[in-house]
Amino acid sequence: MGNDDMDDCIFCMIASGKIPCAKVAEDDSFIAFLDINPINPGHTLIIPKKHVETVFELGKEEFGSLFEMSRRLSGPIQKAMAAKKMGVVIEGFLVPHAHIHLVPLNHGGELSFSRAKKAEAKDLAMIAERIRQQL
Ligand code: AMP
Ligand code: ZN
Repeated sequence: MGNDDMDDCIFCMIASGKIPCAKVAEDDSFIAFLDINPINPGHTLIIPKKHVETVFELGKEEFGSLFEMSRRLSGPIQKAMAAKKMGVVIEGFLVPHAHIHLVPLNHGGELSFSRAKKAEAKDLAMIAERIRQQL
């Protein structure tokens, strides 16, 4: 268990492996996994492992690295999902641990959380595997 874990933070628990996720990629500082309520299939969250409430509290380098990981993953996600575009959202109303939403898109106006629907764990696992094959 990392000392930096916030005990009641769901994304800290994902970062430390205490609760499972459909993992897409990971390095020393960041982890990317599928959103359980995707706007579209392949909707990915990228988080710093360190707990900060918003991305704007990260240092200059970490902020850059978080966006660099988003840049690096956008191609593989787009290809795996055969999406026309990739959208980016930073919101944070539900989970107070910094994260970027990376969302495959096929039409204008799709980038709305009113379209988000709960996904089955087995479907998320299958999609994460498909994305990992493109890395
Ligand atoms: P927001 O904080 O408004 O940017 O949204 C947080 C996002 O995290 C929502 O889209 C949730 O569906 C997603 N989420 C919450 N819990 C989990 C989890 N355990 N695994 C994956 N995604 C999650
Ligand atoms: Zn946290």
